[in-house]
Amino acid sequence: MNNSVFTYPLPANEPVKSYLPGSPERIALDKELERQSKLTIEIPLIIGGKNIKTGNLGKVVEPHNHKHVLATYHKAGEKEVQMAINAAMKAHKEWGETPWTVRANILLKAADLIAGKYRALINASCMLGQSKNMFQAEIDSACELIDFLRYNVAYASEIYSMQPKSAPGQINSVEYRPLEGFILAVTPFNFTSIASNLNMAPVMMGNTTLWKPSSTSILSNYYLMKVFAEAGVPAGVVNFIPGQGSVIGKVALASPDLAGIHFTGSSSTFYGLWKSVGMNIDKYKTFPRLVGETGGKDFIFVHPSADAEAVANAAFCGAFEFAGQKCSAASRMYCPKSLWDKVLKGMEKRCKEVKMGGVMDPQNFVNAVIDEASFDNIAKAIEYAKKSKDAQVVIGGGCDKKVGYFIEPTVILAKDPHFKTMEEELFGPVLTVYVYEDKNIEKALELCNTTSPYGLTGSVFAQDRLAAEKVCDALRYSAGNFYINDKPTGAVVGLQPFGGSRASGTNDKAGSAFNLMRWVTTRAIKETLVSPTSWKYIYMK
Ligand code: NAD
Repeated sequence: MNNSVFTYPLPANEPVKSYLPGSPERIALDKELERQSKLTIEIPLIIGGKNIKTGNLGKVVEPHNHKHVLATYHKAGEKEVQMAINAAMKAHKEWGETPWTVRANILLKAADLIAGKYRALINASCMLGQSKNMFQAEIDSACELIDFLRYNVAYASEIYSMQPKSAPGQINSVEYRPLEGFILAVTPFNFTSIASNLNMAPVMMGNTTLWKPSSTSILSNYYLMKVFAEAGVPAGVVNFIPGQGSVIGKVALASPDLAGIHFTGSSSTFYGLWKSVGMNIDKYKTFPRLVGETGGKDFIFVHPSADAEAVANAAFCGAFEFAGQKCSAASRMYCPKSLWDKVLKGMEKRCKEVKMGGVMDPQNFVNAVIDEASFDNIAKAIEYAKKSKDAQVVIGGGCDKKVGYFIEPTVILAKDPHFKTMEEELFGPVLTVYVYEDKNIEKALELCNTTSPYGLTGSVFAQDRLAAEKVCDALRYSAGNFYINDKPTGAVVGLQPFGGSRASGTNDKAGSAFNLMRWVTTRAIKETLVSPTSWKYIYMK
């Protein structure tokens, strides 16, 4: 038995590769893109380490070329969800009792496999299946994913070493037990790294999971399952069950062994899950931990002292990278009248330069939105704005779903600060701007704080640093991640722990020790060295 006392230091962040033409990473990625483009693979469920086929099939298509089928996948029914619960419960004891350093080393091996041998495989599947260009795939399915794995090992190391004081004659310790039951990891389409982390954060702390992937990110998620197995994650520790959310949720949430939900997705889905847990609360063996990162209506607040060119650039990148499908994407902006013309011109210039299309052409900055339902929803909102007297589409507005689900980068100018697209999350490349009179800045701040139910990300642009501080204070609860003179996207693990409150989630900060703490239930142990034998108080003796 290895009896070393071991700590893992904080790692360096995984460097983002350049993908310059002719670079080794570019050659490997191009080859892998070509290889995967020619395949239509079959994706089974993976329960207790075994491939399970149900025959109830769904399709994985390229969002930018939706006739192209990349894979078919088997969907779990109620029976398979129960099988997955049984497998997770069976693996629970052994995995929870595996030395934490062994669990850590398995996660570190998974990180190294993705950083090296499987980088091109995971990135290409994310590009093709989720329509990300190579930069967006690299920062997600390689770097952020690797950082989550490596940082969580270091944070676990810190947590396990947090111990209470011992008084004379006694030795105190705290044991960090995994939760008593399984964790349901319900993952979103938009970040492969988040899909991985919603499983691997609880797994690091000794838990076992049921993984319900989004039906539009199954390709990259399936390849990840294979990497986890190669890294040494034992059978039954993560059970991969694609399928309909309502079917999986119904069975998993009715199980007395549900110990937690690790969720990222829309607020409405999380409200539904929370309600179901509430309805079942007296059936569970333990109060389930509910951790959810949900929607956003992320803002840029522009102060009259701001640099208009920097604002235009941040608004453009923050709103349109990955077709606006980051939970942190800038989707509303408050701009003073004195700067609006310059900011608008800056955005127009960039929108003219930008190319939109499939992921195989590296010059395409904007790719497709994820699926038809999302396309229709965004197109409808743009149409609504075009027809409304309270708004004007000032940039873009074109939508075309013949080949892929393409929406042009679009800017809506709202005359009414409560216009629909100022308030509701759209999840597409659409930025709505409200222009305020410079003298009414206090009112604009109040609008920014109260207009939407969310509190995820936001930023202020101001060259007057004291003014920026005042805005930061006025918007204290409007964002869990706040930026000064930067776009509200692009949080990096270990540098800006991520998450928001209000309707944006439980703010347990993915990629931090706070999050890992939710996946343990502590036991305090006091050992008395010499047990007393007299019941008398000292003054009675
Ligand atoms: P979604 O809510 O549609 O789906 C999320 C997951 O929930 C999917 O796997 C889906 O199949 C599953 N699901 C749906 N109904 C279910 C049910 N009844 N029971 C069990 N599972 C169910 O979200 P999405 O479209 O995949 O992702 C986009 C959303 O995610 C946006 O709202 C975005 O803001 C949010 N998001 C938030 C963060 C964050 O950190 N706050 C990060 C990424 C994405």
